[in-house]
Amino acid sequence: MITDRKTLNDQRILLRDDMPYTTLEDYLKIGGFEGLKKAIDMTPEQIIDVIKKSFLRGRGGAGFPAGIKWDGVRNNQCGAHGLEPQRYLVCNFSEGEPGTYKDRYLVNKNPYALIEGMMIASYAIGTVNAIICIKEIYKKEISILNRAMQECRLAGFIGDNVLGKGHDFPLEIFLGPDSYLLGEDRAQLEVIEGKPPWPRAKGIIPVYVGLYDQPTVVNNAETLSTVSYIMKNGPEWFKSIGTADSPGTMIFTLTGDIKTPGMYELPLGTPLSTLINEYGGGPLMGRQIQAVFSGPTNAVIPADKIDTPLDYGSMRKIPSGLGSGGYTVLDNTACVLTMGMMFSRFLALESCGQCTSCKTGTGRITKNLELLEAGEGTEETVLAILEDCQHIKGSGHCYLCTEEGIEIGSIFYNFPDVIVEHLEYGCLKHRDLVMPKIKDYDEASHTFTFDHKYFENCASLGKHINYPGI
Ligand code: SF4
Repeated sequence: MITDRKTLNDQRILLRDDMPYTTLEDYLKIGGFEGLKKAIDMTPEQIIDVIKKSFLRGRGGAGFPAGIKWDGVRNNQCGAHGLEPQRYLVCNFSEGEPGTYKDRYLVNKNPYALIEGMMIASYAIGTVNAIICIKEIYKKEISILNRAMQECRLAGFIGDNVLGKGHDFPLEIFLGPDSYLLGEDRAQLEVIEGKPPWPRAKGIIPVYVGLYDQPTVVNNAETLSTVSYIMKNGPEWFKSIGTADSPGTMIFTLTGDIKTPGMYELPLGTPLSTLINEYGGGPLMGRQIQAVFSGPTNAVIPADKIDTPLDYGSMRKIPSGLGSGGYTVLDNTACVLTMGMMFSRFLALESCGQCTSCKTGTGRITKNLELLEAGEGTEETVLAILEDCQHIKGSGHCYLCTEEGIEIGSIFYNFPDVIVEHLEYGCLKHRDLVMPKIKDYDEASHTFTFDHKYFENCASLGKHINYPGI
């Protein structure tokens, strides 16, 4: 397993030392849009075959193979009301996962690879429209994308008669609300249709019933950016990086109790400990790593598992997950239960309330965690939390309630001593922790800015801090 920093850096695909690319010319100089030029001389089926062979997996969290999704939409002959299909491509640029900043970072470095990837996907899938759905609060990235799209339009890479080959690929930006659920594919489609960010019922798959009930591909921004490089260099080149199960690289967001938090692109299969120690500089002087949180989506990773390779299969085995590549490290001075409580509160507030089990379950778990924190919990409190964690898994339209059950349950499973300590004394590690909802990142100082007022803002926006239904 390669852990040497130079060798790992040499394998980067999306990030380079000469970035940012602030003009189209910068991108063209390094071979930008070569992938699109190649693709447009191929048939859509051949392009899909390249993406399938590359085994590119979605970088938004689920890790579903992009080529299979594209194939499903391309070959879906059934549109809304059984009529001829009007296919859509949506780039999910919501990045609502606490602890993640990769899509914004990538677009700040190079917006053109995303645009190119979307044009390649549009042609392969046969779309009538391609949409970048981005949170309206990401003003800087919206402006970068608008400017880059304008340049690409003038240069003939977007719009009518792309590259003079007779294909029209429209591309537009849609601004969505600052809601965690905007990142849920089916909720995102609802928002583009003018409705609230409430996920559609389980089993309604966008490949079959997507935007305006038409076949739709929803891909993450990093996934689509990677497509450009695969088309340019070929699937074998892509598979030579990473592992067989998880080819390529991923941009990781590393936050928390380490010396140099930051944004790092690594080949998949690199151990989590390399990310933390080699890139993140390891724990602060005199401290030890206690746990690593992979957003609110996955099971917490205890310190004895940090040598696990960062790939889909290995992470699933321990069991946790890659998620969208955001890792928050806690050292031995922090309370894992407090961190879990913050994620739980986040999920309870962001739950849309369509499914009673989710809204009341996440709220009840959060309230009980607060009791434990305050030293007012009993064995019944612990049992109630564990029971709720079991019951809410898989009980809602979307994955949010399952995330809650998995993450909170994993804290109780991996840190029984912490729970016993809380039953006896309440929380003994009174250190302020921040919910890592990232607002910005300063690369020079390796500093993230967080939404410190998130919970206050939720209350003022009418998302009740007292958990409705409890
Ligand atoms: S599971 Fe929760 S967040 Fe998802 S649709 Fe149901 S209530 Fe909303």
